[in-house]
Amino acid sequence: MAVLNYLRTALIHHKHTLMMEVLKGHGLRYASLLHQEAYIGGKWVSAASGKLFPVTNPANSKVIASVPDMEVTDTEAAINSAYEAFQTWQTTTARERSLLLRNWYNLMEQHKEDLALIVTAEAGKPLSESRGEIGYGSSFLEWFSEEAKRIYGEVAQSPASSKELFFLRQPIGVASMITPWNFPNAMITRKAGAALAAGCTCVIKPAEDTPLSALAAVDLAEKAGFPPGVINVVTTSRANTPAVGKLMCTSPKVAGISFTGSTAIGRVLYEQCASGIKRIGLELGGNAPFIVFSSADVKSAVEGLMVAKFRNSGQACISANRILVQEEIYDKFSEALEEAVRKRLTVGDGFNKEVNIGPLININQLKRVERIVNESVAAGAGVVLGGKCHDMGDLFFQPTILCNVTEDMACFQEEIFGPVIALKKFKCEEEAVNIANASKFGLACYFYSQDVSQVWRVARRLESGMIGINEGLISTAEGAFGGVKQSGIGREGSRHGIDDYTYLKYICLGGIN
Ligand code: NAP
Repeated sequence: MAVLNYLRTALIHHKHTLMMEVLKGHGLRYASLLHQEAYIGGKWVSAASGKLFPVTNPANSKVIASVPDMEVTDTEAAINSAYEAFQTWQTTTARERSLLLRNWYNLMEQHKEDLALIVTAEAGKPLSESRGEIGYGSSFLEWFSEEAKRIYGEVAQSPASSKELFFLRQPIGVASMITPWNFPNAMITRKAGAALAAGCTCVIKPAEDTPLSALAAVDLAEKAGFPPGVINVVTTSRANTPAVGKLMCTSPKVAGISFTGSTAIGRVLYEQCASGIKRIGLELGGNAPFIVFSSADVKSAVEGLMVAKFRNSGQACISANRILVQEEIYDKFSEALEEAVRKRLTVGDGFNKEVNIGPLININQLKRVERIVNESVAAGAGVVLGGKCHDMGDLFFQPTILCNVTEDMACFQEEIFGPVIALKKFKCEEEAVNIANASKFGLACYFYSQDVSQVWRVARRLESGMIGINEGLISTAEGAFGGVKQSGIGREGSRHGIDDYTYLKYICLGGIN
């Protein structure tokens, strides 16, 4: 056993050195951000079993690190430590919590280049996009450091002069957080920022593909001064995730769970939360329509689509998915779009400065995109551009434009999550709105129009939690992010982001003379 542990430690050290060398070559300044241990109760720890799982760079499939493959016992320890820490953390003042969040924000800003390098190394994003994600991620810490001080209760009108009625807003307790690989930093700060501001403690389970960004962010939280147990990170491989996730939903010490990921897994977690009647926030899949009406400024609609579609190689829940273009301007729009895709997209390793389309995250995602394209083409879609895996490496897909798409095709029915544009012509507003709403999802919609009446009519009718009008980039800490229908429950960011982490306590003070 001792020999095994020695070998494991030696392996970790070797991988750590490798990762450090690679990232230093790209300008990494603080190697202390690279952790290959999980974080529980204020300590950097291995899994009780001693097991590890590898983290790879999707651009070249090389293993860059190994992190603890934690199981239920480790998760229990994390929940216990969060539960214990909550007993004190809930008594801190909003100002104390605000200052710690501000410290964390400042440290994220100071280390943004290093954090971006880590995102690119494990998620494959072009470095400029990783920088954008870190800016977006840290903005939630800044935002919630301010919002912490604005969590208000209420005094209600009393029906009797002998009574006063108060509503206090209090933290719910331990919050479990399960986050995806597509925004490995920002999905953590968006949840943890709100929870910590409210006075909750948290247990975070990052995706198997991207644990390093979570550990780096939490390294800075530790340096910012958050007490032991207030933030915990449990790293786990896909094999152990269902059991770990189940405990994160069902433990009596957990008050609520926040999840970002697929609708299929969201449904599983929702069911698991039912037995304990837990609070739940779900940011799930989307199938965003992107409608270009005939009055639109075609140039800005093309720009909007380039952002809304190709950010993170199309791997975002609010990626434009079903592109609807009114027949009068269809040819003009599709020609301009084809030119933009041909000329402006460079596929490759995210560390290369010229590159603006990186790899997909893993082989399952690549196969899924390939299947969706193949099925759509077999059903009659035309290929204007691309349509195949890219020869750049194992996980790259060609930027693709499909035309003559019909509503029943896979590329319209499913969330593509890849760099594929599916174009469909429509005749009138009514038809476009009906097609847009004919989905079980309702996360984001985009539309372009210069007709003011149409803008209001359509914005009101679209069944969607978020709408970008003449705008392809809607994510911001100030905005209320979330969906309707099977795209989720609750809102993140904005002043509403704290709601999931607090409950109202009604106090009736009687006997007043
Ligand atoms: P996913 O399976 O929903 O994974 C998201 C997170 O949930 C990861 O941390 C994952 O951990 C965890 N998870 C998976 N199974 C779980 C379970 N039974 N209990 C608890 N946690 C569980 O998403 P994916 O497979 O990575 O991607 C599949 C599809 O989901 C995509 O094609 C896309 O449509 C959608 N997606 C949406 C978003 C979004 O932002 N809304 C983000 C990512 C993916 P592991 O990594 O360990 O499996």
